[in-house]
Amino acid sequence: MNFDAAELLSRYLRLDTSNPPGNEHLAANFWADIFSGEDIPYRLYEPSPGRVSIRAELKGSGQGAPLILLHHTDVIAADRNEWSFDPFGGEIIDGYICGRGALDTKSLGIMQLLAFLDIRRRNLPLSRDLVFLATADEESGADNGVEYLLREHPREFDASLVLNEGSYVVEGIVPDRLLAMISPGEKGPCWMRLKRKGQPGHGSTPHGLNPLERLSEAVNRLLDQSREPRVTPIVAEYFRRMSQAWDFLMPYIEDGREETLLRIIVENDLLSVPQVNAMLRNTISLNSLHSGNKVNVIPSYAEAEIDTRLLPGQKMDEWIAFIKKQLADDEIQIEFIMKGEGNASTMDTADYVTIEAALLDHYPGAISAPYLMLGTTDSRFFREKGVISYGFCPAVIPGEHLKSIHGTDEKIGINSLLKGTDVYKDIVVRLCSDTK
Ligand SMILES: [Zn+2]
Repeated sequence: MNFDAAELLSRYLRLDTSNPPGNEHLAANFWADIFSGEDIPYRLYEPSPGRVSIRAELKGSGQGAPLILLHHTDVIAADRNEWSFDPFGGEIIDGYICGRGALDTKSLGIMQLLAFLDIRRRNLPLSRDLVFLATADEESGADNGVEYLLREHPREFDASLVLNEGSYVVEGIVPDRLLAMISPGEKGPCWMRLKRKGQPGHGSTPHGLNPLERLSEAVNRLLDQSREPRVTPIVAEYFRRMSQAWDFLMPYIEDGREETLLRIIVENDLLSVPQVNAMLRNTISLNSLHSGNKVNVIPSYAEAEIDTRLLPGQKMDEWIAFIKKQLADDEIQIEFIMKGEGNASTMDTADYVTIEAALLDHYPGAISAPYLMLGTTDSRFFREKGVISYGFCPAVIPGEHLKSIHGTDEKIGINSLLKGTDVYKDIVVRLCSDTK
């Protein structure tokens, strides 16, 4: 069969794998059909009904440990009314393939598939096993996806390198140059529900035991607490590379000191840029507050949900101790919704150098930089097992399109997809061809 990247992606986008509920069996069947047609053996994993992940493999000589090409098949929900096209229509409009997952992360899956099939068809001898892995449930914690796979089938996912989602080749951030980013690390989520009981009563007679007031005060203490910015290795290297475009970073390049970098960031008011702030700090965001139902009744209960994100290197127990200290209210119960430390793979590997060199060969003149993911991906589970994981997609995306990820009107240019596919093929060949 001949595969056309745009047509494949359009078909893939028509599968509604919104999570929840997921229905990732639709995607697993899509992949299984392709592998059956190509006589490539595969295995399905279904920890609970409909939550299916799929793995296929090309055998290598075993000279190196396996390379896993990973993407997730589920997508975040999309409200048709807020989009200018059908999020699950897979339409091609003005040179763009349109739909939920066009960037996050079904296009990456297509690039990985075509790289995988290309190697198979050319019968290239491989120095390491090459694994294609499409997983369920990335968007809501991976209990039915990577977390399950690594726990229940650890040997099948043993690898020395995982290539996953992360960054893109972004246009428009730096004038006249592309910014080719690779994510070797990400922040960790610590999502909490804070629960506070109190004493109900008549709104006319405040008694000082109003749980909504107590909880609001505690949360304010937490939000008011300023946290010192901290430079982690990925961010230090990111700014070092960005000095190619931003002259004001030169004093940092000259002395290489983190204090100098922080001083420049503060002097240029860069901490007021939310992305820069999040690259340099553990963040806290109060995202929901529930209590009370009548204007003249003191409620008996209040709860708040807080999304905090930890820089790599921040220990979870120290973070929780900090949170409790700032809340300073023993009657607040903390329930954890999701909890994982940030983590990062070293950039100091031959594989990283290979990927970076390939990106620069295909996008000459681009600035290449590592990027600390502010959100989370399935890479963190592999990194926890000591497997190096790098996140990137070698397709050119205009910077303003990045907000469509988990937003509306997600789409990818056909030309970006085609070029990205060619680059991906080359990168995979460079990483596992036996002739290198
Ligand atoms: Zn994603």
